[in-house]
Amino acid sequence: MIRGGDMSCNHSDLESVMERVESYQGGGQRHICAGCAYLLGQKHRANGTKFDPSKVDDLPESQAQPQRHRNAYDAYRIGFDSI
Ligand SMILES: [Zn+2]
Repeated sequence: MIRGGDMSCNHSDLESVMERVESYQGGGQRHICAGCAYLLGQKHRANGTKFDPSKVDDLPESQAQPQRHRNAYDAYRIGFDSI
């Protein structure tokens, strides 16, 4: 796995998950990588960290498929609830 906001942040393994994330055409978090947001949600649940979708604002941006134009906050919630 390539670390640190690579431009081709590719979460092809999360494709079926990303299909469940609501699409988002507004400003702000649509540019944040929804794949990373999903993984952050899982990590927070696993670590016992409090549910806090605003933490996705610190994640790298990605417009790569399949997470393109997905709502990163929704992805975070799905990740958090998946454990
Ligand atoms: Zn990513």
